[in-house]
Amino acid sequence: MNNKTKATWMLAAALSLMLAACGNERAAEPPAPTESPKPTDSKKPVETKKPTESSGDSSVVPAPPVTSANSESAKDAKTEKEKEAKAKETKETKETKETKTTKDKPNMSEPADKQSQPSGATGAVSDNGKAGVSGPKNPAAAVTDGKTKEPPATGTGDRKALSWYYMKKPKGQVPNFPAETKSFTKDMKALWVGTGKKVYLTIDTGGPLGDIDTLVKSLKDNKVKANFFIAGYNVKKNPDFIRTLVADGHLIANHTMTHTDMNTQTDEQVRKEIEDYAKLYKDVTGKDIQPYFRFPYGRYNTHLLKMVSDMGYTSVFWSTAMRDWEPRKNGAEDPYNDIMNNLHDGNIILMHQGSPENIQALDKIIKAVKKAGYEFALLSDIEPPK
Ligand SMILES: [Zn+2]
Repeated sequence: MNNKTKATWMLAAALSLMLAACGNERAAEPPAPTESPKPTDSKKPVETKKPTESSGDSSVVPAPPVTSANSESAKDAKTEKEKEAKAKETKETKETKETKTTKDKPNMSEPADKQSQPSGATGAVSDNGKAGVSGPKNPAAAVTDGKTKEPPATGTGDRKALSWYYMKKPKGQVPNFPAETKSFTKDMKALWVGTGKKVYLTIDTGGPLGDIDTLVKSLKDNKVKANFFIAGYNVKKNPDFIRTLVADGHLIANHTMTHTDMNTQTDEQVRKEIEDYAKLYKDVTGKDIQPYFRFPYGRYNTHLLKMVSDMGYTSVFWSTAMRDWEPRKNGAEDPYNDIMNNLHDGNIILMHQGSPENIQALDKIIKAVKKAGYEFALLSDIEPPK
């Protein structure tokens, strides 16, 4: 399309995204499994973990889909957008409704990384953080790959599709988390924040690999160990990168082979995504995978939480995320500010590797976090919920 058309299209897309989106984070979600208004359950067994929220204020942070701001993705983005646009039309209605109901959710979820995400689309929404997000953000993206579409189980009960997010609080305070966390049981083994003066940097590579050298160097120069959730297709693409990370002492965890929305997969497919990943990891590194898992885009349901837990994994969400799947308005200042302004005890930070600004800012972020009195730690240092 020509520029004008494109511009018009983008504008329209941006508007609809803003409307739809606000709530969810992941940008591109896959065919949206219909998310229903969340259940705010009140009673339910309280979950094991942490600090749940209280009421609080929430400045909601929009969640970031991971995708990337990179060129690579930018390319795909175009086509994806087109697809999305179509998809959107259909979806939108649905979403809009959902959005309304879910309005209270603010914040961040995992950005969608990878290809499935329409990066571009997400990009369109550029309000970084502000919040109010409510609906699925770019749903469109999701549609991109038609194959994921026949989701099996969506729906209701413990299969109700959920998206991770959190509600930001004033600087230094632990955010509030979704009401559904109250229904998590101990045997679901989920983590989203730790405690104490520790920060868990989790780097998501569901999308582009980006500037690997600077990334590895920034961590090494500062003697920091990070936690990586690298999609299997990226492990295949650059096995040496994985070996380097292992040699440097970083923790690499399971993020599925294809980085698709697990809500759209059958149990059997989910199991295979995870088992294939573990096998690949072993082939590449000679070691067993660490028992941590992250749902792509933060899209999950409690049935899957339990299933993944039964497979031996702890599911890791986050307490800080950024809209880093799109170009940052102020360059490397944005990730720096996003992180420093939400720094809190036990902070599990989600950062997408494919964002050039993240990598540019990494050295500065690490130094500032340390200066603020925090120590970088591995997920394996977090005490499991009792
Ligand atoms: Zn991811």
